[in-house]
Amino acid sequence: MTVGQLFRSMRLSLAEIGIEAARHEAALLIAARCNWSLHRVYSHPEIEVAPLQHEQLQADLQRRLKHEPIAYILGQTEFYGLGFSVGPGVLIPRADTERLVEIALEHIQTHFPPDRGVHVLDTCTGSGCVGISVAVHLAAQGRPFQLDLVDQDPVALGYARDNVQRHRLNDVAHVWQADLWPDPALSGHDRYDVILANPPYIVKADVPGLMPDVTRFEPWIALDGGADGLDFYRRLTREAVRRLKTPGLLLLEHGYDQAQAVDNLCAEAGLCNRFARYDYGGHPRVTGGWLLEV
Ligand code: GLN
Repeated sequence: MTVGQLFRSMRLSLAEIGIEAARHEAALLIAARCNWSLHRVYSHPEIEVAPLQHEQLQADLQRRLKHEPIAYILGQTEFYGLGFSVGPGVLIPRADTERLVEIALEHIQTHFPPDRGVHVLDTCTGSGCVGISVAVHLAAQGRPFQLDLVDQDPVALGYARDNVQRHRLNDVAHVWQADLWPDPALSGHDRYDVILANPPYIVKADVPGLMPDVTRFEPWIALDGGADGLDFYRRLTREAVRRLKTPGLLLLEHGYDQAQAVDNLCAEAGLCNRFARYDYGGHPRVTGGWLLEV
């Protein structure tokens, strides 16, 4: 079978079950399996697909037809212009979360002198996408830094470790299995300049109603934020004051309608100079606040 024939049949099968980007996804799968560029897939329909690759692509297609996210089938996804390994058991990084990275970098640049090392903690790190993206950019700016990544889930941590390696951050990044905070006895640090988190924030009762690609395949532990979606924010804000240096920044992504509640929690915890930043859909998506004194 030629690339063109396979492309067409995959595209039609994906479109039939309502996958919007059927054409792009079919091309992505072929490009990944054949180790080609997308351009080559589109421009050389006449090339024969080798039997092994054809077989693998049929298996890939079957997975996608069951609504498994394409990022899991490809084993990777793009976030903040960087490649991240992902697979079953870890949340797929979302475009909205890129704002958290952007805002973290902006605040580090504005509030910490350039030659000063910053110690960053990304908790509920999942694939590590947030902390690692910040770190890659700090490294490119030549700023000294250290990064700690924390998650309680061993599967997610496996991906976080792969991604630390993939971005050659082994010397500056540490991955810890813990419930929100690394054990200071092991990490050697009990306070951070910047704490970042995109914790689970979906209201428990809403999780089953999310898209099938999400509910059937992505880890519920990474989505479920408790009865009102705010369980993690209560703990993060209350406990962060014992984990931040002064000055120290807590920066949290949250749901589109949770900004006020998260800001209230930050205020109750004693964080100052609080602010909200918007996502590209116009929703307040990231809330931050500073610990200025203990
Ligand atoms: N921090 C990770 C991400 O943004 C994982 C988030 C989570 O598990 N809720 O993708």
